[in-house]
Parts: sequence; C-alpha cells; structure tokens
Amino acid sequence: MANDTFRAFRAPVLLFASLLCASCGGRQLSGGDGLPGGQFSGGNGARGTPKVLLFGIDGVRPDVLAEVATPNIDALAAAGWYTDRARTTNPSVSGPSWSSMLTGVWPDKHGVTNNAFTGRDYATYPSFLTRVEAARPELATFAALDWVPLAELDRVSLAELEDDPGPVLPDAIDVREVVNGYDLGWAEADGEIAARAARHLAEADPDAMFVYFGNPDETSHRHASIGAEYRDAIALSDSHVGMVVDAMRARPTYADEDWLVLISTDHGRRADGGHGGDSPEEMIIFILASGPATVDWPDAATSPATAADPTATPSSFIVDVAVTALAHLGIEIEPRWGLDGVPLGESMPGRRDSLPGAATGSSSAN
Ligand SMILES: [Zn+2]
Repeated sequence: MANDTFRAFRAPVLLFASLLCASCGGRQLSGGDGLPGGQFSGGNGARGTPKVLLFGIDGVRPDVLAEVATPNIDALAAAGWYTDRARTTNPSVSGPSWSSMLTGVWPDKHGVTNNAFTGRDYATYPSFLTRVEAARPELATFAALDWVPLAELDRVSLAELEDDPGPVLPDAIDVREVVNGYDLGWAEADGEIAARAARHLAEADPDAMFVYFGNPDETSHRHASIGAEYRDAIALSDSHVGMVVDAMRARPTYADEDWLVLISTDHGRRADGGHGGDSPEEMIIFILASGPATVDWPDAATSPATAADPTATPSSFIVDVAVTALAHLGIEIEPRWGLDGVPLGESMPGRRDSLPGAATGSSSAN
C-alpha cells in the first residue's frame, strides 16, 4: 500500500481534502470498468443487484500494510473508503476476532475467547452469511478459507456443547471451499483459495462471499518477525485479492451489479510476530470498503476526532464489518439480534464501545 493516498491518512486535514478530491476524480481502478475518473459503473440511483465480497487477511498490521506495495488494495481504497484506525477484539486472537468480524458482536456475546472456540454461541449470534441464508434463502452465499476451524471443528469441540451450531461458517452456507493451510503450505493454500473464489465468480452467481487468506499471519509467526518474509506475504495476498476482484469485474452481469468489496484483518501483531494482548500494535486494524455504495460515505480518515488527535478512540470496529455487509444486501438489522456493529458509512467519530470479557490472550499461531 505504498502510495501517497495512504501516507496522507496521517497528514493534516487540508491535505486530506485535496487528496480526497484527487482520489475521487482522478484514479482509475486497476482492471477497471472503463468509465472515466475511477467511478464505478451504475452511479447513484439504480445501482443494480447488491452483492458483497469480503476478504479477510489474517494478522495484517495497518502500518506495515502501508509500507508494502499492494496495488490492488490501493486501487480499491482510492476509489472507496479506508481506515487504519479501526479496532479489534480483546484478546487479539484469531478465534474471537474472526468470530466478531463475521457475527457483528463482541466476544461477551459470541462467547469465543480462544482458538479452540469453546463457549461459542453461534446459535444466538450466527455469521452474517448464516443470517443471509435465514433472512433471504434465495440469495447465494459462499465462503472459502484455509484456516480450517472457521468451517470445521473437531468432534471433541463439537461434543462440548448441547445443540451445537457448528463452526462460525456452518454448512447452512451454500458453498464452502475449505483448504488446509497447514497441509498444503500457506502461500499455496491462499493461491488455491483465490483461484476457487475467482472460479466461483465466473461460473456461479454468488450474492455474499467471504474469502480468507492465512499466509501473512502464519509467515510472521514462523519467522517471529514483521520483516521481509511477512511483507512478501502481504504483497502476495494483494495479488490474490487482485485475482478475485478481476474475476468479479469480468462477470458478464457486472454492469448490473452493485458490489461492495470489504477487506479487513482480525488483529495486528507485535514486532516479534506475536499477538493476543491489548497493545495498539495488536489491537488496531484496517477496514476497507469499496464500491458504488461508498461514494457518499463520510471519509473515516477526515473525521474530526482522528484528524485532531491521532490517538483518539477509533470510530470503527471489527464488529462493523458484518453489519455493513447485511445492510448493503438490504437485510434489515433487527434490534433483537443484539448486534454491536453499525454500518461503516454511518460510523460516528469517537463512537465508543465497551471491552467486555477482557481476557488475556496467547500469542500462539493465529
Ligand atoms: Zn489471526
């Protein structure tokens, strides 16, 4: 993400304004739709069939992301909405963090505080894809991942709960593509995930997709570092994002579709590659949203709270991702669901949340 637009997010507000205009009017999306000025097809008004493509890239620190060449992610951000001041769960560990991103609630509700997924209550707080299937079963849902516990829990885990709802991405989802990153190797596994997601976009008609890449997190753990290997892994993830987004744009019906592309991560990490604690390096995450729907969103980086005070409480949270996806699909968020997130375009500067169940996490893999 080494470009001026991203460095500008730490610059004064006047610079924000000028760069915003530049990014609104002057950027062409890579592999874009051929319209001038980097605009998405459709425009305001009749935007077509709403669809969501959520990428989850495990363990990507926003400040490192900003230093790595990531042209595909940059192009999406330049034409969309981006914050590097969002916040994840405590503990900053994959199990609870992905659970919060996918369900839209904090760990005190979904119950997951570790990578064994003990205590999970996905029956009460299902993933956004599961909610799509319940609310609009005619919509087509898809998930592809190479960290297996997100879609398959072993028998011991399953036996722990009565009426167990299964993993956070259960078989209620129409199509699940599961690859084991530990078996295949994480870089190759992520490539396989990207290929399967791209193929699905070419051959099927998905409405809501989650595509998970695990290689950056696993690479950083393996090398106990956020150095060159980790940065190369982030660059590879960017190319995988590009593969899938290119397939999305190549759909024959793309001009009649209103895709919202979301990209985020579950947690940051320390310089030694570990994570699980509540330091800013571990807790601060990025969230990207790109598509016609984001054109009118207030820009996260120019909110008065963050512009005036770089240490201000983040105005966006990992729990906002699922709610944003549901809102974009036109699914009414019912108060009885108890969701903690709000749609990103409606996030208020300085919005605060509680940090329930502030357990101490481990720094083991994921
Ligand atoms: Zn993780």
